Amino acid sequence: MSMNRQSKNNSEGRNQKALQALRRKLPGRVSVDDESCFAASLDNMRLSFMPDAVVKVQAAEEVGAVLKLANKYTVPVTARGAGSSATGSTVPLRGGWVLDVSALNQIQINTVSRMVTVGPGAVTAEIQAQVEAVGLFYPPDPSSKKYSTIGGNIACNAGGLRCVKYGVTRDYVLGLEGFYADGSPFKLGLALKKYVSGLNLRDLMIGSEGTLGVITSATLKLLLKPEKRWTGMFAFKSEAAALKSVVALFDAGLNPSILEFLDRQSVTCAERYTGKTIFAECPRASILLIELDGYPAEVRAQRKQLLKFMQDRAQAQREAGTEAQAEALWQVRRTCSQSMFSIADTKLNEDVVVPIQKQAELIRYTIALKKEISLATPTFGHAGDGNLHVHIMYNRSNPDDALKAKAGIKKLMQKVVDLGGVITGEHGVGLAKAPFMEIQHSKAEIAAMLAVKTALDPKGILNPGKIFEPFEVWDHEPVKVTLPWDHR
Ligand SMILES: Cc1cc2nc3c(=O)[nH]c(=O)nc-3n(C[C@H](O)[C@H](O)[C@H](O)COP(=O)(O)OP(=O)(O)OC[C@H]3O[C@@H](n4cnc5c(N)ncnc54)[C@H](O)[C@@H]3O)c2cc1C
Repeated sequence: MSMNRQSKNNSEGRNQKALQALRRKLPGRVSVDDESCFAASLDNMRLSFMPDAVVKVQAAEEVGAVLKLANKYTVPVTARGAGSSATGSTVPLRGGWVLDVSALNQIQINTVSRMVTVGPGAVTAEIQAQVEAVGLFYPPDPSSKKYSTIGGNIACNAGGLRCVKYGVTRDYVLGLEGFYADGSPFKLGLALKKYVSGLNLRDLMIGSEGTLGVITSATLKLLLKPEKRWTGMFAFKSEAAALKSVVALFDAGLNPSILEFLDRQSVTCAERYTGKTIFAECPRASILLIELDGYPAEVRAQRKQLLKFMQDRAQAQREAGTEAQAEALWQVRRTCSQSMFSIADTKLNEDVVVPIQKQAELIRYTIALKKEISLATPTFGHAGDGNLHVHIMYNRSNPDDALKAKAGIKKLMQKVVDLGGVITGEHGVGLAKAPFMEIQHSKAEIAAMLAVKTALDPKGILNPGKIFEPFEVWDHEPVKVTLPWDHR
């Protein structure tokens, strides 16, 4: 028998033994059927790698038990919430076990300390609804919030629309509980507003994409729910005019709770998709969508200041007087993502960030890139944070298009870093951005990150193959599946 065949047989034998031990330890929790394994084999990036088993835990201690066994038998473990990751970070690249924590979804609100303690499987929008029912507010609001779990949000340090005023997920995490790769428990931070004891490993866990530990509970800070919201939409003759206004708006002291930008390519897609012209008086406009929130008097004063500010800048405007009108305005933004498939069947969806003063230069670059690679580059996003979703649209079956998209994305990433920006602001690295880590980080920075990974997970059990190992996205064909958020 060749050495390779023998070591493969050995590892298969070990995997079988591990699976038997797992089933004995957690009867009724382990699925190995094709349907369960396929569902857990992919995320929103739609690259499928089959796990050996899916373990759906029902209690925090069971996470520790799974990891102890995985550590003993050296089985890869990939934690999973809703699987809405945009980067392949939830895909069990090396097989092994998918650790589904979605059933750990308890929500416990403390109205005195203004905190909520949640299981990692609690769905973001459900947390928001429950805290808002008692007059409190959890601001981070990824567009996937109706589906995404708080464990996934913390593991990716999710952003969203309201980050411009309220910050990202990290800004609300006070304490985390969970288990390290070897199954030993951690408590990082507590349900306290102040905590400076020891090294801040809590913040290391946030955004680590399930590579350093598995979260089983989180305590989040809450705010008082804003009493009033106002929404307005403004049309500009060019992207440069819209993005210049974003810079000036902060300089003028305005404090929007949402500040979204749509370039003219995105507006055209949305108009084609809905069959409606957004601003008939200003066709092919670039758009800013702005929300103000706070006490009624504060919102009134900010609205007055904003409308005056926009008088000489915007070419047209709409105001929402009612919730229904506001919803109609936000629908324009929501339509953008889906409407782009009228251009081509495949989308590269980036979430780059540049300093807000550099956004106009980035958009100039995306327009130049469109001409250079002859592929559409519609861009929209969170202009208040400098966090823009640049897309490159191409047809997967056309090899020339795919090559141009591949070259285009690398150039884009280099440009972002040259502008003082970052390759990902909210989706994380996963598989999709791993090839660009060397553009963003020095060798010494990557070595320091790997040293932390090795210290906390010496056997490389947790989510192996992510962040640090270059991955050729282009060698793998995405699977065609409909996921829950496809028809929002
Ligand atoms: C339509 C759509 C819109 C989106 N909009 C946004 C947006 O506005 N902002 C944004 O930031 N993202 C957005 N995303 C990306 C995605 O929803 C977020 O990354 C989200 O935080 C993932 O949550 P999840 O529960 O689906 O996590 P999963 O996809 O299940 O997991 C994501 C990562 O977290 C790890 N993980 C999950 N649970 C745990 C745990 N308990 N302990 C340790 N690691 C864990 C996984 O291993 C994986 O690496 C969007 C995605 C879609 C499909």
